[in-house]
Amino acid sequence: MKYCVIGAGLAGLVFGAMAVKDGHEVVIYDKNPVPGGVLALCEVGDYRFEQGPLLMCDLLPGEPMSNLLAEFGIHLDLMRADRNVEMPDYSMHRPEQYEGPYWRRERLKQLFPDDAAGLDAYYRFYDRMMRVRYHLNRKLSPGSTLALAASFLPVARYARMTAQELVEHFFKDQKLQALYTGILADYCADPREVWGLAVPLTNLETGFDDRIPLEKNGKHVLGGFGYIRGGCQKIAEALADYITKNGGVIKLNTVVDRVLIENGTAVGVRLANGSQEKADVVAGSGSGRDFFGNAVGMEHLDDGYRRILETYRPMEAVFMVHAGVDFDPVKVLGTALCYCYGSYDLSKATERLRAGQYHDGEDGFLLFIPSYHAPEFAPDGKHCLTVYTVAPDTLCDGDWEAKKELYADHLLEKAERYLPDLRQHITVRKIMTAADYREMTHMRKSSFGGTVPVWHQKNPPHKTPVKNLWFIGQQSENGGGLWR
Ligand SMILES: Cc1cc2nc3c(=O)[nH]c(=O)nc-3n(C[C@H](O)[C@H](O)[C@H](O)COP(=O)(O)OP(=O)(O)OC[C@H]3O[C@@H](n4cnc5c(N)ncnc54)[C@H](O)[C@@H]3O)c2cc1C
Repeated sequence: MKYCVIGAGLAGLVFGAMAVKDGHEVVIYDKNPVPGGVLALCEVGDYRFEQGPLLMCDLLPGEPMSNLLAEFGIHLDLMRADRNVEMPDYSMHRPEQYEGPYWRRERLKQLFPDDAAGLDAYYRFYDRMMRVRYHLNRKLSPGSTLALAASFLPVARYARMTAQELVEHFFKDQKLQALYTGILADYCADPREVWGLAVPLTNLETGFDDRIPLEKNGKHVLGGFGYIRGGCQKIAEALADYITKNGGVIKLNTVVDRVLIENGTAVGVRLANGSQEKADVVAGSGSGRDFFGNAVGMEHLDDGYRRILETYRPMEAVFMVHAGVDFDPVKVLGTALCYCYGSYDLSKATERLRAGQYHDGEDGFLLFIPSYHAPEFAPDGKHCLTVYTVAPDTLCDGDWEAKKELYADHLLEKAERYLPDLRQHITVRKIMTAADYREMTHMRKSSFGGTVPVWHQKNPPHKTPVKNLWFIGQQSENGGGLWR
């Protein structure tokens, strides 16, 4: 069968590789000059920067994504990753000497003695959730389904809570609650709208100290985060290589503007240059609203699918400053990734974000050093630093192009709280706004990272009402990666 895949981002490449492996003829189209979508690198002078994923979950050896890639003969060179957290008036830094898997619990008990019992209870619950996660990640079989059900029973009563209710159940102090919900800012999500069990699943303790063992009794039971040595675009390169070596074709600098549909069945695609290509199966990625609104046509959908397209919530945007620097930020920060929060009230911050109010760095940002796992991204003796934060797709006052230089100055100034005199050590800088991400992803709006994991809200399903048409990628039903 012939498959036409729209988009050579992570989704299109994985889909294409699977189709090639199954013996199908595959053509992938992408408007960009290189495959990868947001995995592609950004070059600034002698420096290179990552524009998409920082670190990946489930990709370490033996974990589900690594097993999937192994089916294509792809074995990435990974290093375990962790991060520090800066709250407005306390910090969680990976201890210099390893203090065991529960070091955060013990340190938090010292900072929040009134919450000591709650912390013990949370970590008992967390350990149970890690058992659930382990069984969820195993291949489905009657035995594993039973084990999953048994592991879920002790945590079932928490499954009715939102993230906010869950942290309020365990902790009294808002400053402590925010430590566990803070990560939801990455998804532009309000803790009042996210499923409670997402809290332990997005706060893997292994993500705060890469020395916490992933194995118990010789079995790989805990999830970990990893950096890909040489950068995340290595996944795109390896998948593209697999596809083309196995007969697939990737057509770059090529925009698809229409899915051809006859009698409710997808039969091919029309390119922006007017040419047409017939296909037995079409898969589209990118923005759900753009894809179905423009390339497919809403008239081909049923009411149910249309309703999902109207109601699902894509994430907003990012504001990012890449800087080449003449010092090693890892030596100052003690880590290659640092989450710096400026507010304890994530609900208010999310409300502002959705109203188009950019927080100008006040609500928080990330410090990320890509040259840690990819030293070749910077010239000898230099390093790469990315400072970034979630931001509205569309500003309520002014536009990104006009404001970006000023906002970049403010963000770097705030970063100096953790990297003193940073601005005096910058050799090159590049600013990325919502507009740049729209261009890179071929989306008209909300081009950052996927969908907000709003509990009970459906994202566009892979299977569409049009026969032989599939929707894949960051805005499809997997929930932007938060839940499989
Ligand atoms: C700043 C940032 C940080 C992130 N951090 C993480 C992280 O730490 N961990 C993690 O797991 N994930 C992270 N993500 C999310 C992850 O990167 C994305 O979910 C994933 O890479 C998206 O892949 P995709 O193929 O769905 O979309 P994309 O990467 O957007 O690729 C889609 C491609 O399709 C092309 N395209 C679309 N429509 C057409 C058309 N009609 N014709 C031709 N081409 C078309 C686009 O140009 C693009 O190249 C992050 C994302 C961003 C932006």
